[in-house]
Order: sequence, then C-alpha cells, then structure tokens
Amino acid sequence: MSRWAYVNGRFHPHGEAVVHVEDRGYQFADAVYEVWAVINGRLADFDGHMTRLGRSLDELRIEHPMSGASLLNVLRETVRRNRVRFGLCYIQISRGTARRDHPFPDPAVAPSVVITCKSLDRGAMETKAKKGVAVITQPDIRWGRCDIKTVGLLPNILAKQAAKERGAAEAWLVDDMGFVTEGSSTNAWIVDADGNLRTRDTQANILRGITRGNLLAVAKDAGVKVIEKPFTVEDAKQAREAFFTAASAFLTPVVSIDGTRIADGKPGPLTTRLRGLYFERAAELAV
Ligand code: PMP
Repeated sequence: MSRWAYVNGRFHPHGEAVVHVEDRGYQFADAVYEVWAVINGRLADFDGHMTRLGRSLDELRIEHPMSGASLLNVLRETVRRNRVRFGLCYIQISRGTARRDHPFPDPAVAPSVVITCKSLDRGAMETKAKKGVAVITQPDIRWGRCDIKTVGLLPNILAKQAAKERGAAEAWLVDDMGFVTEGSSTNAWIVDADGNLRTRDTQANILRGITRGNLLAVAKDAGVKVIEKPFTVEDAKQAREAFFTAASAFLTPVVSIDGTRIADGKPGPLTTRLRGLYFERAAELAV
C-alpha cells in the first residue's frame, strides 16, 4: 500500500519526501517533535500533545507553523491517506533551512514541518503486554532540558540499542543519585512495596508524558493511591509491579529489571487493570 508524508505544505509519496540538506533539524537537531497514538483511525489526546508541542516550540523560540485547527486537519488527512486504523502519527518541526551557522537565522526563516504515520500490529502489542517485557538500566547522560521534546535523541537511542542488544524492550535511565528518571522513550512506574502506584515527579529532568498525565487521572478516578516520588533501581526490583507508559506503548508491563524478576515474573493485576481502563478512556476521547 502506498504511504504518504506531509512536508512543508504538501503531501509526497513517502519514498520521495525530503527536507533540505541545510535544514537545522538535520544540521543541529534544532527541532522538536510530537507523537499521537492513532486508535480506530482517530488521534488520541490531540489537545494534550498539541499543548506540549506548543510549549516545546515556545521554549526554543521556534515559530508555530500553523494553528491547532489546521494541524488537526493535516494530521487527520495524513492518517486518512495512509489508511492507519491503529498506529502512530509523528510531527517534526525544525527552525527551518538556512546557511549553516549556530545562531538562529536572522532574518528568521519559516519552520520546516514533516508529518508521517505508521500502522502498528495491535495483536502483537497485546501479546507483548500479556507476557510483559524486560528492561535494563543505563546511566542518564542526557542534557538538562528533557522537558522539551526535541529530536536530539542520541542518548535515548544508545540506551534503547543497549536494551535491544540485551534482549530487553526498554532502558530505564538512572540519575547520579541512583533514582530512575524515566525510560529512553517512556515514563517509568512501579507499584511499590506499600502498594502505592509511584512515578517520578515532574520537577525532575524528565519529559512530562501525556500518557503519564492521563494515567494519573485514570488511577485517581479508579481510587488508586498515586505518589509522584523518585524510586531507586533496588526499589523497582523489589516492587510488586512495574510498567512503562507512552503514546507508543500505552501501559506496558515490566516483568524483569537487569535480569531480576519482578514479583512472580508476570504482569501485575493493577497494571493489567489500569491498562484496560486507560485504553478505554483513550479510545473514547480520540478525535
Ligand atoms: N519519556 C520520553 C523520553 C519519551 O520520549 C516519551 C515518548 N515520546 C515519553 C516519556 C512518553 O511520553 P508520551 O506519554 O507523551 O508519549
């Protein structure tokens, strides 16, 4: 089936879609991105991801290329053209194309916009979630502004590759104090020894995951006690349950950390329950 990509105002066959060699996203990683889950052909939490995208752009003083309403139209058209029912939709916005020089282009140039979609195998994701996945830990070597969703993902990529080479699905990043910050592309959670659902607070140098924020609300509505408090790798190994969240993973149960089995080595009951509740809510609210 033919795939389409949106680049700077036009749709192109995916294989022919290109940006300029002097695009600042390519030259400097001077660009931000955002990711929406697509459920039943609709975008999950459009507003949440849109708000974070606006904030990422503002923090880096990159111009907003279009209104939220226009962006929703283009994203929907990209989903439609690619016939995605269940999958992911990505946008990358760079500061634009200009002769290579570190400071911002002066006068400013138009930001570059790329939008792509891909289908995911829902059955395979469900099978993975039923079994649970392994994670490893890696030192968190990222910069100090992980709250901004930039395309500068090299430390994340190295961590994910290390995980893959050790047969794990994700790498949990660990700060200098020994606390888990988040995953290389997900937020990290445990159900601690006292039965509290626990994840890192957003004062820390982490991405404020949209799935994370929504899950906090789902958990509170379900009467689950949640605390936003750092946990160590040892806390995680002794946890009753563990999982990670992202638009690309929903809630994915974790059954081992650095080779140590979590509890009985199966996805935990609270994780499984919350995964169901989360998915229902996300599907209902998708636009
Ligand atoms: N942390 C990092 C480093 C990520 O890259 C992502 C996914 N983009 C997340 C957390 C999860 O964020 P979200 O729930 O908004 O997908």
